[in-house]
Amino acid sequence: MNSIELLGIGVKFHGHKCPAMPLGLRAGLAAMKKLGVERASNKELFAFVETGPFHATMCFVDGVQIATGCTYGKANIKKLNYGKNALTLIDIKNKKAVRVSINSEFQVNGLSSELVKLRQKGVEPKGIKPEIVDPMVEKIMSAKDEEILKIGKVESIDFKPKKARFTGKDVKNAMRLHFPMA
Ligand SMILES: [Zn+2]
Repeated sequence: MNSIELLGIGVKFHGHKCPAMPLGLRAGLAAMKKLGVERASNKELFAFVETGPFHATMCFVDGVQIATGCTYGKANIKKLNYGKNALTLIDIKNKKAVRVSINSEFQVNGLSSELVKLRQKGVEPKGIKPEIVDPMVEKIMSAKDEEILKIGKVESIDFKPKKARFTGKDVKNAMRLHFPMA
């Protein structure tokens, strides 16, 4: 999938065009490239994202999900609620991890943008004109990694996420919860 297709899917999934979701795409792609891994089709990867509730750039998490295949549906992503824009991506089989955060200079510039001023006044993302948001998104999608991101070193990690269970008893319990009359 090229970055234009990825952005298209991201905007559809996310619901509006904003700079934080594409930043999540770029952070996810950069982390995958650094680890030398493909998008997770199952649970090959696990993501810790550092945004949190009430954070101005929570949309970041949706970009991470689209790029990496670490999703809430597959339970291979977890929010750490640190109030930051960063991602640690783990390659479970090869026991490697990398942390990618947003370049602080880029982040400071973004926070003084017209878009952030409008959001501070209570304008919803959908209400922000394309001439304001489009150039920001284009810049994020076309920038070099180092212009927008800070990519850490690949570290060793032995991380074992909890496995989803499909034993007879668990399936029976799920059936009982969803179809109590059955
Ligand atoms: Zn958004």
